[in-house]
Amino acid sequence: DFAKSKSLSEQRQYLPVFSVRDEFLKVVRENQVVVVVGETGSGKTTQLTQYLHEDGYTKNGIVGCTQPRRVAAMSVAKRVSEEMETELGDLVGYAIRFEDITGDNTVIKYMTEGVLLREITLEYPDLDKYRVIVMDEAHERSVNTDVLFGILKKVVARRRDFKLVVTSATLNAEKFSNFFGNVPIFHIPGRTFPVQIMYSKSPCEDYVEAAVKRAMTIHITSAPGDILIFMTGQEEIEATCFALSERMEQLVNSSTRKKVTNMLILPIYSQLPADLQAKIFQKAEDGSRKCIVATNIAETSLTVDGIYYVIDTGYVKMKVYNPRLGMDVLQVFPISQAAADQRAGRSGRTGPGTCYRLFTESAYRYEMLPQPVPEIQRSNIMNVILLLKSFKVDNLLDFEFMDPPPQENILNSMYQLWVLGALSNTGSLTRMGLKMIKFPIDPGLAKMLITGEEFGCVDEVLTIVSMLSVPSVFFRPRDRAEESAAAHEKFFVPHSDHLTLLDIYRQWEANEYRDDWWCSKHFLQVKCLRKASKVRSQLLDILKKLEIPLTSCGPKLHVVRKAICSSFFHNAARLKGGIGEYLNCRNGMPCHLHPTSAIYGKGYTPDYVVYHELILTNKEYMQCATSVEPQWLAEYGPMFYSIKDSDTSLLEHKKRHRDEKSAMEEEM
Ligand code: ADP
Ligand code: MG
Repeated sequence: DFAKSKSLSEQRQYLPVFSVRDEFLKVVRENQVVVVVGETGSGKTTQLTQYLHEDGYTKNGIVGCTQPRRVAAMSVAKRVSEEMETELGDLVGYAIRFEDITGDNTVIKYMTEGVLLREITLEYPDLDKYRVIVMDEAHERSVNTDVLFGILKKVVARRRDFKLVVTSATLNAEKFSNFFGNVPIFHIPGRTFPVQIMYSKSPCEDYVEAAVKRAMTIHITSAPGDILIFMTGQEEIEATCFALSERMEQLVNSSTRKKVTNMLILPIYSQLPADLQAKIFQKAEDGSRKCIVATNIAETSLTVDGIYYVIDTGYVKMKVYNPRLGMDVLQVFPISQAAADQRAGRSGRTGPGTCYRLFTESAYRYEMLPQPVPEIQRSNIMNVILLLKSFKVDNLLDFEFMDPPPQENILNSMYQLWVLGALSNTGSLTRMGLKMIKFPIDPGLAKMLITGEEFGCVDEVLTIVSMLSVPSVFFRPRDRAEESAAAHEKFFVPHSDHLTLLDIYRQWEANEYRDDWWCSKHFLQVKCLRKASKVRSQLLDILKKLEIPLTSCGPKLHVVRKAICSSFFHNAARLKGGIGEYLNCRNGMPCHLHPTSAIYGKGYTPDYVVYHELILTNKEYMQCATSVEPQWLAEYGPMFYSIKDSDTSLLEHKKRHRDEKSAMEEEM
């Protein structure tokens, strides 16, 4: 144990930030706000909070450190608690949505920006319990970062004893410093090695395949050193890992005489369970080569030592407001030049590295933006508007944004809040809006919970909302697709994916709750169900505080479908004909039932459905759909639908459907 702690403290002293520890503390003592710039891996996230603690800032208050990503908050808190030799949740803790691992002793608290934002707007407007806030990775510029900037600037002006440290990995430092009134910029000296950049000769058609090939070539022909591959999301990462392990198997089988070096293939993305995430930090045994396949999370948030090769697809998945669909969608976009450079730099931390870009040099020079567009300028800001309204910022144009969201974006989001009944005609918070803010979930889901009271089915809706707030419970292994589909089908409730989720949760509860075996038998993710149960109890606490009783509709489940319709009528679609083909009611755009839906191809084709959200892959798929009656749509969403409209279109559709059917029969 002693040896271990000694090596940890040695590791701390080896970090670049250690050489400027005292200067850093001096600058903080002399200034209220400081911007800190340093290479990724220099020790900003893990060390600055500890230095502030050692310098006495936690004698009266705590040091909070915000992270744009949940994974980073958890993993860093764990690391720092080890460095300080305390249990996680004791001196060092973290808080992310639905999970608070802090205690009375906690003096260093890592948290997501969203958690701090909610604390400020709902509980402590002046952040009384914090002596220092470190806003880490501010260059990521999430919507929450930008709102925090505006709010913290006010807190700084009001509280003389409050300190703010803003860290940034890139060129944004100047801009941040100006925003806070030309505050000092503190540089941590870098320690990086040169990186050789290799471009693709021509644009690549299939970057998963290209990345797999490149990784195998490196593994077979290049010197030792770990590989880091950037992909855009979980599915691609899984496909890449799968292909890599296949190629490795082939390689082992085909080389009978030579011993093949093992390759340790490690995925990392935000929904990956924490124990698997932690694996990327472990050293590969017996000379194996690690190959980490990551989302953008490895660009700046997590630093892994020993990477000598980076393979960059040049893409990232981002949430973007899509005016055609009238909502935010996750879409894959080319990265910016700044991001490409940052990714390349990850290979030069331990020694001279190589970055293979799976895009051409001219794409880099002429097609990529120099910097990414801040999220607040490209996505829906409903949550932010709700929080700011509750924070008494009535006119959003008065709020000091570093880069204000486009007027159109504000208006769109306000319109959607009005549609949900959260804002009045004059744009002020309604009683519904005030209640919605209390729930740390999307406004539509919050509304569903609250209206459950009106329909007498809070219990059912609570379970559905909890299930929709965690990653999908359905486990669909590639190699057992049919088997798992058949297992899932047993839970299907006719007409509704939402009710199917309810059914699964209830059966899990009835079947001894924590029984892993039951879950694996039915191809369900036990972790997600457990998470849903945690979320459920936290949402239940909030319901209690709002004095909303836990009513149940018993077997009359159509009532639940009504409650869903009353809060998701804006996501309605009308049957077009064909299996699972629908048209979006608001804009006439095609959308489709997913083949895994409980409604898809089961013989009943509802004329109208509402869906939880759209996913854009090769087509627009409705994720989680429930059949509804057109008169419900007219009743709950009169701004979109009138009874007359829906009836005529319904009739038309039935007639067309009949015509198509008889035409088909004639042909046969
Ligand atoms: P920065 O914030 O400047 O990018 P960090 O403080 O995150 O730097 O990381 C400093 C060093 O701490 C990294 O180089 C890495 O070796 C180590 N480290 C950080 N997090 C972990 C972790 N969860 N497990 C093991 N080592 C870690
Ligand atoms: Mg960091």
